[in-house]
Amino acid sequence: MKRIPVLDLSYEISELKPQLMDAFASVLDNGAFIMGPNVKSFENEVAEYLGVKHAIALNSGTDALVIALLAAGIGEGDEVITTPFTFFATAEAISQVRATPVFVDVEPQSYNMDLDQLEAAITPRTKAIIPVHLFGHAVEMTRLMEIADRRGLLVVEDVAQAFGADCEGRKVGTIGHLGCYSFFPTKNLGAYGDGGLLVTNDSAFAEKASMLRVHGSKKKYYNELIGFNSRLDELQAAILRIKLPRIDEWNAGRRKAAATYKELLGSVGEIVLPIEAPYAKHVFHQYTIRILNGKRQALQEKLEAAGVSTMVYYPVPVHKLPIYQALEVTMPTAESLAEEVISLPIWPQIEPAIQAYVANKIIEALQ
Ligand SMILES: *Cc1c(COP(=O)(O)O)cnc(C)c1O
Repeated sequence: MKRIPVLDLSYEISELKPQLMDAFASVLDNGAFIMGPNVKSFENEVAEYLGVKHAIALNSGTDALVIALLAAGIGEGDEVITTPFTFFATAEAISQVRATPVFVDVEPQSYNMDLDQLEAAITPRTKAIIPVHLFGHAVEMTRLMEIADRRGLLVVEDVAQAFGADCEGRKVGTIGHLGCYSFFPTKNLGAYGDGGLLVTNDSAFAEKASMLRVHGSKKKYYNELIGFNSRLDELQAAILRIKLPRIDEWNAGRRKAAATYKELLGSVGEIVLPIEAPYAKHVFHQYTIRILNGKRQALQEKLEAAGVSTMVYYPVPVHKLPIYQALEVTMPTAESLAEEVISLPIWPQIEPAIQAYVANKIIEALQ
């Protein structure tokens, strides 16, 4: 068997190639490369899919977070609560707007922010919460919004890993005040380059975010704010318009692959499989398991030798990165997850035979 990657985009690319080539040709013929018709149409289509009033296409998920915070007036002197078990960009965006990240440890089952510990982290300076729907599993948003509303806090959802995931039947990203998505190529809805999206039902936030996207202007050359150049590229928009109609089918493929792993690995000792909480519809952006008894690294090396690629998301919890070490906080669950987690190969079209090979190699390695 050939090397098994953690993600194989060649299935979708070979299937979509004729459509993609037609779309590229029409962008070339049209000649509008920036903020052209595909960007506008994608914004309308994605807003309709998500059931949200405003969708603003941006250059990346990181920019979406930064622009969301600025649009909501978050800045110097403000505290923003988030999880330490996420990609750096979540906390980086908070620091980028000169606010202070405050970390709340995660639950060991869903790997998401532990809502039991959330209220204790709120201070008079707290302005916002950024929940991250990690690996495609929703944070319990109803409960989080109840706390946020009661304490008068803004909620910016980081949906970079959970496009199309549900929480109690509602799409994540549309439950908080603002939702930030990434279309980095490896995300469950990915472009073939960088891309991001900000969504909101609040017209004032939408207007400010649209201005921040183009140098703080509503009208070209009449700049009113210090903004950014953070537009989604027209070619990426054309790609995303081809991929968006397929996302439910692809998320279903990931869920099926997760069910297959559960069958194959469910009774193996020293492994903890990911959960799907009753409120969540998981999209398995990653299939991330925990390896107990300090065996993670040895397992990863044996899998590598057997031709199975895996990834560790994340080997260092964000509060332990050099830039945040001065905070001197301890997050026991995030720290132990960083030692235990390993993400297995998963993509919508992965064949059960590949998964069986992966599972057998894991079982062999743990013996
Ligand atoms: C990928 C990711 C981001 C950043 O998105 P980019 O498009 O790469 O800027 C932010 N948060 C999380 C949780 C991510 O996984």
